[in-house]
Amino acid sequence: MEQVNRMNWKEPRVKFALQAVQQAATLAAAIQNEMVTEALTKDDRSPVTVADFAAQAVVGSLLEGAFPGELLVGEERAEVLRSPQERRTLEQTTTFVSRVISGITPEEVCDSIDRGVDEPGENYWTLDPIDGTKGFLRRAQYATAFAYVESGRVMLGVLGCPNLNHDLQESRGGNGCLVIASRGAGSWIAPLDAELDGSRFKQLKVSSRSDPGEARLLRSYESGHTDADLIDIFQAELGGRADPVRMDSQTKYALLASGKGEIYLRLLSPAKPDYREKIWDQAAGSIIVEEAGGKVTDLDGRQLDFSQGRTLKKNRGICATNGIFHERALKALKAVRA
Ligand code: AMP
Ligand code: MG
Repeated sequence: MEQVNRMNWKEPRVKFALQAVQQAATLAAAIQNEMVTEALTKDDRSPVTVADFAAQAVVGSLLEGAFPGELLVGEERAEVLRSPQERRTLEQTTTFVSRVISGITPEEVCDSIDRGVDEPGENYWTLDPIDGTKGFLRRAQYATAFAYVESGRVMLGVLGCPNLNHDLQESRGGNGCLVIASRGAGSWIAPLDAELDGSRFKQLKVSSRSDPGEARLLRSYESGHTDADLIDIFQAELGGRADPVRMDSQTKYALLASGKGEIYLRLLSPAKPDYREKIWDQAAGSIIVEEAGGKVTDLDGRQLDFSQGRTLKKNRGICATNGIFHERALKALKAVRA
């Protein structure tokens, strides 16, 4: 059946979330271009530190202007940045943030970052300023992820992916893309620098593949974030033969929503079997898949519950699919005891 969803591009939260992510992700891309250079040593994480702080400062400051009373649960806090040892980091961060918010002072940058120290309430915004920090440093995939949650359910999600073009091709230093979903209004994609009136946005739809032999798995690039061996066993149990797609960050959700893959699992890493997913790592991506016609649950088939604080305490891992494969994927997970 054809989807007949319609996004209201004039709705204040939709407009605000798109604008905030567009500005934060565009700034992150500039920081990556200017700071992740050949001269960077292997252990130097300063570019992603600056980008994390700068992107959260931009969103925190814009939220304060648009919806001053609302809760923001952000991944970062400014405590370290305020210390004398980090003066240089704060100076660099302030220089970048002032490209978006002219005249902002270092103190205001810290306050804008700390706009995100709230704990989740009945309704709240949640932000991952740079999701996929390792991808950012490899000049690969990363995303700014922003979402609005009401009563434990994600209602709006936006991803800004500077190294993924709006035709879903990976492109370092390309145009990037902006992806949005709103409950009941579908999932949509446009170039990162698009006008936000909706004219450039195209609707996303998950893949209609149903043959397990053709199911493409999306998986983390970093093996420490999942159980890589068990994913191989899962694929054999499912009967899958297609090559997996390995990628950092929530851009994997954008690919699943666009039909470029069928199954995305976050299994528990054997090193951290009690790990619980952070809300900002899953909120925006999961609604984008659901609104494109897919399904997202935990490994036991439970709905994700965003009312449990900063982590998904009541859920174990993630199973996201095009919908068609969901029951088969959960059954295969049970069989391999994931
Ligand atoms: P990905 O890029 O898909 O590998 O996921 C990146 C996210 O994984 C980061 O934002 C972290 O919050 C999260 N992460 C960190 N450690 C773990 C872990 N042990 N298990 C699962 N996720 C983790
Ligand atoms: Mg993250």
